Amino acid sequence: MRIHINDPLDKQATEKLKSVPGVEVTSEHLEKEELLKIMPEIEVLIVRSATKVTADIIEAGTKLKIIGRAGTGLDNIDVKAAEGKGIKVINTPGANSISVAELTIGLMIACSRHIARGTIDLKNGKWTKKELEGHELFGRTVGIIGFGNIGREVAKRLLAFNMNILAYDPFVKETDMNVKMVDLDTLYKESDYITIHVPLTPETKYLINKETISKMKDGVIIINAARGGIIDEAALYEALVNGKVYAAGLDVFEVEPPTDELRQKLLALPNVVATPHIGASTFEAQERVGMLLVERLIKEIA
Ligand code: NAD
Repeated sequence: MRIHINDPLDKQATEKLKSVPGVEVTSEHLEKEELLKIMPEIEVLIVRSATKVTADIIEAGTKLKIIGRAGTGLDNIDVKAAEGKGIKVINTPGANSISVAELTIGLMIACSRHIARGTIDLKNGKWTKKELEGHELFGRTVGIIGFGNIGREVAKRLLAFNMNILAYDPFVKETDMNVKMVDLDTLYKESDYITIHVPLTPETKYLINKETISKMKDGVIIINAARGGIIDEAALYEALVNGKVYAAGLDVFEVEPPTDELRQKLLALPNVVATPHIGASTFEAQERVGMLLVERLIKEIA
């Protein structure tokens, strides 16, 4: 059985997979054209978020049985096309939630306390202490959109900061945490911080747009460590420039890596803190994700 790993997978997990009798493992990032060429030879394809497993790639996989996604979001995989051909899609929900939740809180604090701008100014020899007064999280209200694995891990941690926590999730009606489930309009109206933890779907595409931003509090801080495309970046840029939005913390972008235009406009704003899609990029999460995926794969192929 040939297994091809097309995005970086934890070393220990890769070794475990290689130790399975009768399995040949190749590991190398191939761009689409090259990947298409090897697809007819492989039974299992493993990816993270970088490889786009489109319908034509699936179609070329005449022996393909399983697509393994080391991580959560399945928006880079044409799941319908896979299921249509009887190909199983396996992911690892929950295994990277703590890392994404910790980065989210890092972005909230970085936005509130101008950590990135302070660093850049200091490195450029500028002492901007007077310009960098910020906000506490204490006592303020955060709205969590999407109360799944990551949303809940974020809430757990923000309770320790003594924040009032609101959450919106059409599939979660109640919770035993000290979190108030509300409708989306209430969340927009009452939140000082809004953090997004939903998958990218047709329903969540451009969920944050000019109209929804207008429903938010003046001076709101917006965090997105979910997926680019959930925020309309042009609308966010406008709101950051006119002061409606105080700051934004972004780990994900509609196009990754971002276009030059985004870099010169949105990313150039002093009130934007940005990271290159590193929410799940910790040694701990990658080991957890890799090992869980491999255990699940072994169960399937044994
Ligand atoms: P999850 O499935 O546990 O939770 C997602 C929640 O969103 C669910 O409870 C679901 O009911 C809810 N939801 C779905 N549609 C909604 C809508 N229209 N409005 C509000 N809520 C809605 O997933 P998770 O593990 O918490 O991950 C959430 C997302 O975070 C993933 O889909 C992925 O895109 C993103 N993510 C990003 C990184 C990163 O590196 N930055 C890493 C992992 C996951």
